[in-house]
Formats: sequence, structure tokens, C-alpha cells
Amino acid sequence: MVFALAGNQNSGKTTLFNMLTRGNQRVGNFPGVTVEQKSGEIKYAKGNTVVDLPGIYSINPYSSEEVVTRDFLLNGKPDGIINIVDATNIERNLYLTLQLLELNIPTIIALNMMDEVRASGGTVDTRRLSELIGVPVVPISAAKKEGIAELVSTAVQTAENRMRPKIRDFCPEGPVHRCIHAVSHMVEDHAEKLGLPPRYAATRLIEGDDNGRFAESLGLSRNEVEMIEHSVLEMETERGLDRWAAMADMRYAFIEKVCKKTVKKTGQTRERQRSIKIDTVLTGKYTALPIFFGVMLLIFWLTFGVIGTPLSDLFLLGIDSLSGLIDDALTKTGVDPAIHSLVIDGIFSGIGSVLSFLPIIIVLFFFLSILEDTGYMARVAFVVDRLLRRIGLSGRSFVPMIIGFGCSVPAIMATRTLASERDRKLTIILTPFMSCSAKIPIYAVFCAAFFPKYAVYVMIALYLLGILTGILVALILNKTAFRGKPVPFVMELPDYRMPSARSVLLLLWEKAKDFLQRAFTIIFVATVAVWFLGSFDVGMNFVTDSSKSLLAAVGRFIAPIFKPLGFGDWKAATALIAGFSAKEAMVSTLGVLSGVGIAGLSERLPAMFSTLSAMSYLVFTLLYTPCVAATATIRRELGSGLKTLGVVFGQCVVAWIMSFLVYSAGLLFI
Ligand code: GDP
Ligand code: MG
Repeated sequence: MVFALAGNQNSGKTTLFNMLTRGNQRVGNFPGVTVEQKSGEIKYAKGNTVVDLPGIYSINPYSSEEVVTRDFLLNGKPDGIINIVDATNIERNLYLTLQLLELNIPTIIALNMMDEVRASGGTVDTRRLSELIGVPVVPISAAKKEGIAELVSTAVQTAENRMRPKIRDFCPEGPVHRCIHAVSHMVEDHAEKLGLPPRYAATRLIEGDDNGRFAESLGLSRNEVEMIEHSVLEMETERGLDRWAAMADMRYAFIEKVCKKTVKKTGQTRERQRSIKIDTVLTGKYTALPIFFGVMLLIFWLTFGVIGTPLSDLFLLGIDSLSGLIDDALTKTGVDPAIHSLVIDGIFSGIGSVLSFLPIIIVLFFFLSILEDTGYMARVAFVVDRLLRRIGLSGRSFVPMIIGFGCSVPAIMATRTLASERDRKLTIILTPFMSCSAKIPIYAVFCAAFFPKYAVYVMIALYLLGILTGILVALILNKTAFRGKPVPFVMELPDYRMPSARSVLLLLWEKAKDFLQRAFTIIFVATVAVWFLGSFDVGMNFVTDSSKSLLAAVGRFIAPIFKPLGFGDWKAATALIAGFSAKEAMVSTLGVLSGVGIAGLSERLPAMFSTLSAMSYLVFTLLYTPCVAATATIRRELGSGLKTLGVVFGQCVVAWIMSFLVYSAGLLFI
């Protein structure tokens, strides 16, 4: 049997999903972490599957992640719905519940976060609640692993016995009730043909905010649509509310009645009280922005200055001495010089140079995940909403961008939480300007070579430049291709929570694994390819001087494009090409091409670049096309190869212009 896990955002669906499946899905104290459906086997009830769905507030969705959920519920034919309800927010959560019940699928309510309710001295009479709503209610705490076994057995029983919701009509006698019944009756045949419950079809038609598309898909005739509209109009006048408000009012009136009988609150939960106190400072009118910038600066300073870099240096030392040992051994055994070169100049200097940055990247992800899991990120989105509105974005767009500092791939996927297509596309285009963590190795190598004393400042300047460029591009697009206004910002602010060690460690492990995988696959292949092309000439002869190689020929061909930017060197150009496979591959390529160990690369760079052209090169690296993986994600999300090509080309043009500006301005001053 298949169970769908449905509920509001941040109600604990993923936590429960992980509990049920021993899964390792990402949990975040942030609305919109799950943007795709994920399924897994329930470990307590073998043979049964549970599907984690993106959070929704209403069955009639606004954003594309929410469509995933509705489509699954309607067309995926789940055997049962586990509706997870946040007990600390029960009124709002039950709104969705009432809509789910209309689907007439066996449903049970998992009343989550009962630990918090209890801690605040509140109670919920679950037996009574179950009677009033007409489906089983099981109190649980997903985070504290309470009530899970009972939840599973109840769910399995309910689905096995095909126990459909006992009550589906929450409407007291009156105009709304009459209207729902009349419309249900009218559309019954049409709905059943599509396998939809008539009542669901009726309420959706009455709420009707999709320009008649749903009526069309039901195959209603013009006459029938007119009759329905007439019935709705009558109801609106009698009720004195518009159609949507009348439906909402009907549901909330029922919820209020139910909660009065079942929920005892003793004011706010401790978590909420604490959150309100913290928020007076963190989202205060004058304190919010300075604190946010302070936090970001602190994170970058710690990552690049205090914690990450020394760890990386240590790592590098290890890799370097290992490489030295093997180098000696190979020399002693007298292997073929081509193989010797492949191992030392290719594999060790390539992969090694990339691996040494693992600690920095892990540290950065650590901080980003803390920001998210505590609930601070959601606040920041709220705080920067007003600023972003000026450049035609909303606070919602901010989150993908912050995630973009880690990696563009999940960042671009996170844009699915945006409600309007305009906002979403604009955000997809802007996200790659946020410097991703794979670019850190290249910055670090250049900083060590050219600005050893100011490394941290140069790094921060690069990040800021990425943001600034994003803003400029947004301003331009907002006046041209993306005219219009971002949709209003609505996001619920989750309570502040201690991040769970498990969740943070899980994320770090995932990132480390991902990074290592990349190092030994894409980057390995790129490194060996670069070594091969750089060690043989057109006639396939092994050359010790790489400037006579195949690669040099290719590099020289495209190098003139970069001449005006100050780095017409063929090696620099080749590294940029390699960077398309994965940004880290730029370092390995430069390492391989200059034929030195990783540690030696920083000493070799000054022969290739002046300080100014190094700066210009970094700017180009920051802004030019995202890597293959990110480009493929953009393609998938934009759904158009041509548009993706446009985005990639546009980025390269922007990168070229910015580098040119930096280089020319530099020339003027020096
Ligand atoms: P989703 O958006 O519905 O998938 O929710 P998540 O599973 O990502 O959880 C949102 C937040 O609620 C996370 O910070 C969880 O640690 C927290 N959480 C989930 N279940 C519980 C619970 O039973 N009790 C408490 N106190 N926190 C919980
Ligand atoms: Mg989730």
C-alpha cells in the first residue's frame, strides 16, 4: 500500500518520513525544503510505501512545488493519506485537513509536535477530535519518536479496511451548504468520469480562481457553467461574502467549533514565547539588517580566515607529502616517464589540489545549515523582502540565493517554492551569480599567490561582487524582459529551534560525499583528460613541454577572446574550459598544465598573471557560465534548451564585461 504524507509546510513531514523509513531526507526549519516527492518503505510495516510531499496550505496550489502534492493526491491514487498536523498551530493546519477529507481517501491525522504542546501545559482531546472530524487521530512527536508505532498500525488498518472519512460535509444548513450540494449534483457525472469525488469538484468550482480551466477539464458545457455561476452568485449575495471567502469562512467556522471542544491552550508554547523575544532583536526595525550582515561577515571570516583555511593547509600538507613519497618510489622503480607523469602531475596534483579544499567547504555548509535549521534564514527572507522588492524580487527569492553560496544545483531547485513564474525564472537567472563553494579552491590558490595578506578580504569582495552583479542584472531584467511586480511575500516564520545534531551531520556527510564523488569522477576524468591533451602533441608523441601539446593548440585558439581582459595565456583559457565540467577542475587543470605539485602552483601563477590580470581572471571565474550540473538543472527548471543557452551565454557576456571593467579600471590607476 502507498501512503501519502501531506501537511502544511514545516509541520514535520520530513522528520516523520525519516522516522518511518530510516531515511536521510533533508529536514530544515524552513518552509519549502522538500520540493520533490520522495518515497520509501515503512520499516515497521514492510511492503508499505510512504511518500513525502512538499508542504501545502491548501489543495488549490499557487506554486509549482505545491502542484506536485495535489497531483499526487488526485492522480497517484494513494491507498491512504497520513495528514500531519502541527498541534501548536492546529487551527490553520486543519484547514488543509478539511480539504483533504473531501478527496474521500482513507485518511488519518498525525497530530505532531505534541511534545511542545505538553511542555507549554496544553492538551488536545484526540478522541473527541477524531469523533468530530470523522477520521482517526494519533498524537505523535516525530522529533522525539513518540507515537510512531501506533501511527503506523492505525494507518495500515485504516487503509486496509478502506475506512473513508466519515464526515465530509462541514457546512451547517445555509446558503453555502445549498450551493455546494446543488453544484455537487450538477457535476457528479463529469467528476466521476475523471475519478474525482463530486464534492471536491464542486468546492473547487465554487472557489474558482483558475479562470475556468478546471471547469473545462471536467468537460462542462457552457450551459452547465452558467448554471453553476448563477448558483454561486446567489450564494454570494445571500452570504454577503465573495465565493472564496465564503468557503474559507465555512471551513474556519467549523474548525473553531471543533477546537473549542478539544484544544486547551495555556497561551503560547515556550518555543513561541522565546521566538517572539528573540525576534524583537533579530528582526527589529533597526537591528535586523546590521545583524544579518554581521552574521554573514562572521561566517565568511570564520570559514576563510579562522577555521577552514588552517584545516585545508593541514590537509594539503598530508596530500603533498604522500605525493612526494610516491614520486620517490616511482623514480626508484624507474617506471615509464609517461606513467610517472600521469600519476604525479595528473592524478596527484589534480585531485589533490581539489581535495585539500574539502574542509573549507564543509565549514561553510556547516554554518549555512545552522542558519537554516535554527529558523533564522526564514527571518532573513522576511527582513530583506523590502530591499529585494526594489529590484523586482521578493523575500522568497532570497533563499535560493543563499543556498547558491553552497551549490547552484539545490539552489535552482529551491526556486520551485516561488509562486509566480516571473519571480521563479528571474531567480533562476540570478542565482548562479552567487559564488558557489566549488569556486573556493580557485580563489584560494590565487589569493595565496597574489594577495596572501588580504586573502579574506579578497574572498569577501568576490562574494560581494557576485551579489552586486546579481542586483545590476536584476535591475536591467526588471526593466526589460521581466517587467512586472513580484507577488506579495507570505511565509510563515517558524519558531526558533535548536538544530538537531543528526540533521546537521547528515547534511555535512552528504556534502562531503558529494564532493568526494565529484573529485573522483568528474574531476578525475577532467584531470586525466587535461593531462592527456597536455602531454601529447598532434602526432600523439609524448611531450615534456606542454606548450607544444594538443591542449595548447585549443587554448591558443580561444585565448584571444580573453586578451582584452589581461589573461590571453592559453593555460588560463584552457582552465576556464575545464571549469565547465566542475569549477574545482580549474585548479587541477592549472596544476597539471604548469607541471608542478599543488603547493607549487601558487608560486607558478605569477609567471602567468600579473596581479591585475589575476584579479580580472577571478572576476571572470566568479561570473561566467555555471558548471554542467547547474546548467542541466537550469535546463530542467526552465524547461527550454534555448532559454538555457541564452542564460549561459548571457552569463559569459556579463562576466566578460565585468572583467573588462575591472582590468581597464586597474590599468588606468596603475
Ligand atoms: P516539513 O517542512 O513538514 O518537512 O518539516 P520538517 O520535517 O522539515 O520539520 C520542520 C521543523 O520542525 C524541524 O526543525 C524539525 O526538527 C521540527 N520538528 C519536527 N517534528 C517535531 C516534533 O515532533 N517536535 C518538535 N519539537 N519539533 C519537531
Ligand atoms: Mg520537508
